[in-house]
Amino acid sequence: SGPVTVLDSKALERALTRICYEIVERNEGLDQLEIVGIRTRGAYLARRMATKLSSLSDVDVPVSELDITLYRDDLDPNEYRERPKNPVLSDNNVPTNLAGKTVVLVDDVLFTGRTVRAALDALVDTGRPSCVLLAVMVDRGHRELPVRADFVGKNIPTSLGEAVDVHVTEVDGEDAVTIRKV
Ligand code: 5GP
Ligand code: MG
Repeated sequence: SGPVTVLDSKALERALTRICYEIVERNEGLDQLEIVGIRTRGAYLARRMATKLSSLSDVDVPVSELDITLYRDDLDPNEYRERPKNPVLSDNNVPTNLAGKTVVLVDDVLFTGRTVRAALDALVDTGRPSCVLLAVMVDRGHRELPVRADFVGKNIPTSLGEAVDVHVTEVDGEDAVTIRKV
């Protein structure tokens, strides 16, 4: 059996719009808001959210990006396989001037929570946001850290033998979320 579609393009777009309205409800005015997307697909979702939020308000909501990639040290080739990959900031192109801002961090999928933890480290290093909120298109469960999303497009309980594919038009030519067995 092939991939199963969980969100088609209309449903993905609706989920993004709904999240934006939820962000508006949570914030009195959007003038202190900044959207920070985690590359790759989180950054595209973040840009779309910033556009929607700007059209819902009288300010241009700024958007920036973080690049968090998986890193494994390789001291011992046997241990190497056991040890969880460690997400780290791979880039010095981090957002600046976040002091006092309400930051909405955006990613496509929330899984163990390790990427978000690394992103929070990076954000806190660049200044002191007054508040950081988390928006994800898919929460697939299996957290290994105490991380939860404030805004969720779709909760998709998965097994570890399944992979979630988030397709965005900018990269994949279409918007969709599908699940498949791996
Ligand atoms: P975590 O760090 O929470 O374990 O994983 C989240 C990060 O890894 C996100 O940046 C996301 O892009 C990627 N990721 C983890 N699991 C999946 C998955 O099942 N599907 C997709 N598309 N990305 C995933
Ligand atoms: Mg990612």
